[in-house]
Amino acid sequence: MPAGRAMNNWDGNKKLLLELSREGENSACADCGAADPAWTSYTLGIFICLNCSGVHRNLSGISRVKSIQLDFWDDTLVKEMRNKGNQAVRKCYEAKVPPFYYKPRAADCRVLKEQWIRAKYDQKEFTAANSQWQEFIALEPGAGDRVGCLWKRGKDKGRFRSRIFHLVEKEGALLYYTKEGVKGPKGVIPLSNMNAVFQPEKIGNPHGLQITYLKDGHTRNIFVYHKNGKDIVDWFNAIRAARFRYLKLAFPTASDTDLIPKLTWNFAKEGYMEKTGPMEKEPFKRRWFTLDTLDRKLLYFKDPLDAYAQGEVFIGHTGYGYDVKAGLPSGVKGNKWNFGLTIVTPDRRFLLTCENDQDLKEWIKAFKEVISKPMSLQDYTAEATLRRKQRR
Ligand code: ZN
Repeated sequence: MPAGRAMNNWDGNKKLLLELSREGENSACADCGAADPAWTSYTLGIFICLNCSGVHRNLSGISRVKSIQLDFWDDTLVKEMRNKGNQAVRKCYEAKVPPFYYKPRAADCRVLKEQWIRAKYDQKEFTAANSQWQEFIALEPGAGDRVGCLWKRGKDKGRFRSRIFHLVEKEGALLYYTKEGVKGPKGVIPLSNMNAVFQPEKIGNPHGLQITYLKDGHTRNIFVYHKNGKDIVDWFNAIRAARFRYLKLAFPTASDTDLIPKLTWNFAKEGYMEKTGPMEKEPFKRRWFTLDTLDRKLLYFKDPLDAYAQGEVFIGHTGYGYDVKAGLPSGVKGNKWNFGLTIVTPDRRFLLTCENDQDLKEWIKAFKEVISKPMSLQDYTAEATLRRKQRR
């Protein structure tokens, strides 16, 4: 349309839009919070990141995407973007997000972002007009019970098998059964000490979920997935809802703000390092490490998908004999890797090596965060239990 083109100032519009994308809430992706979003959904009127724009692209009925830099913008569209924007649109589509519901962040996996964006704009689950979550929250405990099949990784060559999972709030547990009609559950995962983390890379499935809990004082991992993205994210939020209700009963004086970070949590850092034994003369062996900041635990595994850790180390506070230092004692050398660090605990020190300097820095930063965090009453109990176990 040459006439329209003449009326539009393309370069000027791009500049206006770029300025608008740096104002207030527009400067972070409307869906995952990533900084400096370069894309928009111009039908919804929001600024989004490249990753989230990929999800919006598949919702063509409600969302159309345009790049700020690469596409043409006419006067009317720029005006509409100014009238809407991230803050105003969030007020509408996130009016009633339940407190336990997980809002993905930039570093989270694709399935979490995709289902969040679909729930928000396609299903409109959180608008003021939609009362499904309000009704759900008002219901008695037990209303959140859920039953369904998930594929669970087994011991035999890591094959995944279909298992029936049953979330039963009254029993305070997530149960799983090998077959329908079987009497007792094969596993009982207590709501009191469970965590769930999406681990698509580690599990090798885009919907892979790791569930961690305590069994007879030992940390146990199970790995599951569901073929359907919505189902696995619904399971994840059902676990969070059940944990939320459980924790509210267990800690009646705690505020929602205190409890929400404890519903499920991501690990501070995971990856391979080499370690030697307590004599510090044993050959360094490559192990998979998981640092859990909330539970103050360092776990190491032979294989990242092992059910049980080879070792669990409590990481206490700096004032109680815990420390982390770069480097190894003189004369000690790693096997294949040279970037050493030393973890000091009251019982023994752990000598570890990382593959590169970047990894070393990340591990030290993660350990320092735990060590500088004050210990809670529960932490002291956990410390006593773990240290007793280590001495055996
Ligand atoms: Zn995003």
